[in-house]
Amino acid sequence: MINLKINHIPVSVPEGSTILEAARLAHVEIPTLCYLKDVSCVGSCRMCLVEATGARGLVAACVYPVSEGMEVLTNTEKCRKSRQMSLELMLSKHKKECLACERAGNCELQRLSIEYNCDPNYFEGEPLTHEIDYSAPYVVRDRDKCINCNRCVAACKKQSVGAIGPIGRGYNVHIGSAFEMSLMESVCVGCGQCIVACPVGALKERTTVDEVWSAIADPEKKVVFFTAPSVRATLGEAFGMPVGTNVEGKMVAAIRRLGDVEVFNMDITADLTILEEANELIARIKEGGTMPMFTSCCPAWVKFVEQKHPELIPNLSTCKSPQEMFGGLLKTYYCEKNGIDPEKLYVVSVIPCTAKKYECHRPEMNGEVDAAITTRELARMIKTAGITFASLPEEKFDDPFATCSGGGTIFGATGGVMEAALRVAAKTLDGEFEVVDFPEVRGTAPIKEATYSVAGITVRVAVASGLGNAEEVIRAIESGEKQYDFVEIMACPGGCVNGGGQPTLPDSMRNTLDLRSLRAEALYTSDRENALRLSSDSPVVRTIYEEYFEAPNSHKAHEVLHTSYKADKRI
Ligand code: SF4
Ligand code: SF4
Ligand code: SF4
Repeated sequence: MINLKINHIPVSVPEGSTILEAARLAHVEIPTLCYLKDVSCVGSCRMCLVEATGARGLVAACVYPVSEGMEVLTNTEKCRKSRQMSLELMLSKHKKECLACERAGNCELQRLSIEYNCDPNYFEGEPLTHEIDYSAPYVVRDRDKCINCNRCVAACKKQSVGAIGPIGRGYNVHIGSAFEMSLMESVCVGCGQCIVACPVGALKERTTVDEVWSAIADPEKKVVFFTAPSVRATLGEAFGMPVGTNVEGKMVAAIRRLGDVEVFNMDITADLTILEEANELIARIKEGGTMPMFTSCCPAWVKFVEQKHPELIPNLSTCKSPQEMFGGLLKTYYCEKNGIDPEKLYVVSVIPCTAKKYECHRPEMNGEVDAAITTRELARMIKTAGITFASLPEEKFDDPFATCSGGGTIFGATGGVMEAALRVAAKTLDGEFEVVDFPEVRGTAPIKEATYSVAGITVRVAVASGLGNAEEVIRAIESGEKQYDFVEIMACPGGCVNGGGQPTLPDSMRNTLDLRSLRAEALYTSDRENALRLSSDSPVVRTIYEEYFEAPNSHKAHEVLHTSYKADKRI
């Protein structure tokens, strides 16, 4: 342990700690902008400059290591003046649209500028005239709000995508794609991890909220919403509730108050995905199909395979994602059953994710989901409608798509798809099999592995979240180092609970709380409390098969619930 003093307070920290880490243990907050726990630590923004004995001049606390007997001062006039000037320089080339910026009130630059009493016009910058990049249907980039902190670059690099990086020198340095390509032309897979990393409003989702409001107001349209499993575990954060609060009942009540709409549970098609996927896995094992089989419910992962690893396309499950299964189910089964013209049914999915916005635009999905809105957009709609979220009653989803199994709910956390599929596959292979918990595939470890034996069949599985970790798994498989039968990949680290469309919390929370575990626990608690643990036990799913698809992997199921992929080689 190293003993030092932070603002005269003694503290002992493990050797190798930075001053920033030591300060946290001494309950002292040092401001940061380019630093983000688990994502970025480059010491470039100069916000965390502090005075430290033994150092020449101010040092960046996020990268400077502690030493025995060191005395650190974090709040001297020299530190404050330095931070104020850094902020004023950033403001000189920042489009100051705080009145209408959706990050206003939740912007790290705004918060620090107020705290350090900055004059936003102290330095006169050049006029900001760059075009906003609206090329992609999921992410919007406004270069004139960017402060070049590089957090998005680090997030994208960690995803092993590298669609964006710094371009140019000095005052002209900016973040962009190779050859100044638009985001849509680049290798971006739409995961949105850059958005949640951004401390300001330079990156945001491409919103479709206005289209949804228009559909709600259109008397010719019947509007139905469905919500992804992870949204109930995060929406409360947008209304100041503690991280990990499950707000399922209030979420349903709030959506119902947006207009004359019905509210369905996407966990139902998560259950449906599991039945289709588990049966596809069993068929591949028994019939000698392409192995290992990879999950396909994450559209950013699918795009990653199509662009970077097209050789693995035969390994992808042919199942659509739960979002697209729901779109297909509503525009066929539901419309036929209720005599609704599919053209008049407006389907809105509420998702944790920007990649699912892109997925709606894939031509093979036939526009079955009309609009996909993120958790953040739903929160904005609830606020616009003047709904006091915290005081809402708990309400239930609408029939016929209300009751799901716990297996469908845990889809929102890394390992959830694998666990739900193992439950069903084990039961299908061995009717006596009673185990429903597979703890080996739970938790937020980047890569998890396990081997199970059921009815004489050995199944070797791997789970990875974050595309950088997926790349590791692919390398191990392709080199022959590892052999698996079934692999779950979710593009976002921790799975959908940490998706690019989830609420953006202040750095003070992101750098200190384990958001992924807290949010995932809300889903696992819901699973434990559900009397139905197996996706195949869901009465809704049973009715859907009885009335429409007959059996998993039937011809009709393939027409509506399955899809295909194609290689998309990019620079
Ligand atoms: S959306 Fe994902 S892949 Fe695209 S630039 Fe952002 S981090 Fe990179
Ligand atoms: S877009 Fe956001 S995260 Fe990326 S460099 Fe600019 S300010 Fe930082
Ligand atoms: S992990 Fe979930 S939130 Fe992230 S891109 Fe995939 S589907 Fe979307």
